[in-house]
Amino acid sequence: MSRQTPEAKAAPTTRQQPLEAEQEAFGSLPPRNFCAELYDRMSAAYGPQNWWPGDSVYEIMVGAILTQNTQWTNVEKAIRSMKEMGILEPRKIASLPLDTVKAAIKDAGCYNQKATRLKNLTAFLIEKNLDFFRLRKAETAVLRNELLGVNGIGKETADSILLYALGHPVFVVDAYTKRLFSRLRYRWMAKGSYDEIADFFHHQFPRDAVRYNEFHALIVFHSKYYCRVRPGCASCVLKDLCYYDQS
Ligand code: SF4
Repeated sequence: MSRQTPEAKAAPTTRQQPLEAEQEAFGSLPPRNFCAELYDRMSAAYGPQNWWPGDSVYEIMVGAILTQNTQWTNVEKAIRSMKEMGILEPRKIASLPLDTVKAAIKDAGCYNQKATRLKNLTAFLIEKNLDFFRLRKAETAVLRNELLGVNGIGKETADSILLYALGHPVFVVDAYTKRLFSRLRYRWMAKGSYDEIADFFHHQFPRDAVRYNEFHALIVFHSKYYCRVRPGCASCVLKDLCYYDQS
């Protein structure tokens, strides 16, 4: 008889069979909800992450675009440059020539693409009258679809904007999440689709923006400093929960 664990019950239907098979292969699970245990341990070890850095809703959105395929230090440089030029405001970005925006964000890399995406997102926000209060109150699924309709905004960026700029309860899936969780226990995540992985986390925790915010930030911290490409398992606070070959 197959074991029914909290994780197995919560997993997306399409992944139910592989997930149970993996759990059978690995033996008994910790008694507590696995993700809650990870959250508590990382939270105790690393403290509050205070994400996402930014002085305004718009700055957080800009950061969500600029951070695509680059390190955060480069995003910080680009944002500093925009501030020094006095252009980190939607109406200014909308009115400036594309080349000026490109020059301002050069440090973030891929500036041709990112400047266009920034302009596209800004045009969308202006269409919405820059009414961030209404965007916060909007139906999450509807707003997500609208954001995904903006040229150059993919799922990870849309969800980062929804969660970190607007406080919608969506889980952000990134490469760190996939790497960590596929090593810990859920091997299917290495090849899982964005939506399958996001659904998994939506089932693990009640829809709670504060919790999703902090959990994702903790995953990023842990993955940057411990569960790197070459992981530092010896000092990892999750090592007794992890099925990765740590030898
Ligand atoms: S034990 Fe190693 S592989 Fe597992 S989570 Fe920690 S750092 Fe990553």
